[in-house]
Amino acid sequence: MLDPKSAELVRGLLKEYYSKAGDLSPHSIERREFGFGDFERKISYRHMAFRDWKALRTYLTNDAPPFVSVSSAHYQHPDGRPMENKGRIGAELVFDLDANDLNLPCAKEHGRSWVCDKCLDGVKDETHKLIEDFLVADFGFGEKDIGVNFSGNRGYHIHIDNKTVFDMDSDERKAISDYISANGIEMQSFFPNLGMKGKRLEGPKPTDYGWGGKLAGGVIRALNTGIGELTSLGIDRPTANLLFRKRAEVILGITTGNWDKINIPKKGELWAKVLSSIAVRQSDSIDKNVSTDVHKLLRLPDTIHGDTGLIAKRLKSASDLSKFDPMNDAVAFTKGTLKVKVESSPKFEISGQSYGPFNGSSEELDTAAAIYLILKRSAALI
Ligand SMILES: [Zn+2]
Repeated sequence: MLDPKSAELVRGLLKEYYSKAGDLSPHSIERREFGFGDFERKISYRHMAFRDWKALRTYLTNDAPPFVSVSSAHYQHPDGRPMENKGRIGAELVFDLDANDLNLPCAKEHGRSWVCDKCLDGVKDETHKLIEDFLVADFGFGEKDIGVNFSGNRGYHIHIDNKTVFDMDSDERKAISDYISANGIEMQSFFPNLGMKGKRLEGPKPTDYGWGGKLAGGVIRALNTGIGELTSLGIDRPTANLLFRKRAEVILGITTGNWDKINIPKKGELWAKVLSSIAVRQSDSIDKNVSTDVHKLLRLPDTIHGDTGLIAKRLKSASDLSKFDPMNDAVAFTKGTLKVKVESSPKFEISGQSYGPFNGSSEELDTAAAIYLILKRSAALI
């Protein structure tokens, strides 16, 4: 629970933010369902509709909700309930990538409710991979179809707003989601004699279409880059060393579909591991996987995330992702300082300043840092 004094302060800041905000309405606002959260739940009520920005802004400045979410679907009656009465017209295709789904080693050090640079860089790389290697390369979407926004916490939302995807049903969305995550891919389909004794391992060539080509191309690229790149594909150090030493032969082999140029133990498992490293890591739990659920509500871009005080910042274009730095570029509350009692927090950086680690101390911090700690339930106003 957020203490009443801190909650009141944050509500005040939210009111101020929304009263000064430009037009935050999604296109076709009148066809969207909205949902709002309080400090305890991201969605505490939904099935709301607004005819224009003026109506939404009045709501946001009066209520100052800590979470504002909107449907990727368009409906005839967005406030209809139950869901069947809304009359769905179509939906954007959305992907939700979160640092927690990457299972990075740093999460063990700082816990799953905190993020560090490695988490934020990792999820940014994953977003790049989704966009460049899958959405553009395999599905042929153009940059103008792809919208990207920071989630406001530790990930990115990727929206495809295009006529082709608008009419897709849940099964078609699931097929796309499975493809990019390499779900249900049988290694035997690329390596027909995998596990057969005495047979040379035949496998995909980099020119092959789809996952076969991706696997072959990914391994060749890593061999050309270095040992670090090979281990980042899940290959153990001794095998990576061996592959790298013999890389000329291995590359020549893979180019012609011969994956047996050098002797590697447990080849099937090794290449399966590489394949899953090349895939995009989304949440694999069905109820968290937004790309397959057309009824899901997602943070409205450029609204505040109530667990961090950061903006779910919309990027101008996907190519702006490389230089985007959430802990600087998505900071909302920059005025003044606040006195807080900090229970505990690891070291973190916000607006170019480093803070912590804290353990039960009273501190006067820049507002952005204080609010970040308050909303993470690690600090309270004094
Ligand atoms: Zn981390």
